[in-house]
Amino acid sequence: MAKYMEVKEDVMCEIGDTTPVAVICPVDGTIKEEQIDRCIAPIVQALNVANIVTAESCCGHGRPGVIFMADGRELEIKPRHWKEERSDR
Ligand SMILES: [Zn+2]
Repeated sequence: MAKYMEVKEDVMCEIGDTTPVAVICPVDGTIKEEQIDRCIAPIVQALNVANIVTAESCCGHGRPGVIFMADGRELEIKPRHWKEERSDR
């Protein structure tokens, strides 16, 4: 059985901890550099290399984050086994 690494909270970066990533501009298709949250920068880079255009992203900084794709879909980024806080309990 495969063993997966636990995603620890400290793999997520602090607000403002960004790194430049070459991405496809969703407006005109040109390549440009954008500052991306460091902990999800490799994911955003991989999507753009695969010609999947991303529009905006945030790792969530300890809470679930999201990568918006230009086609209208979004990828939710969250630690494995994340449980939503529920206000009705
Ligand atoms: Zn982060």
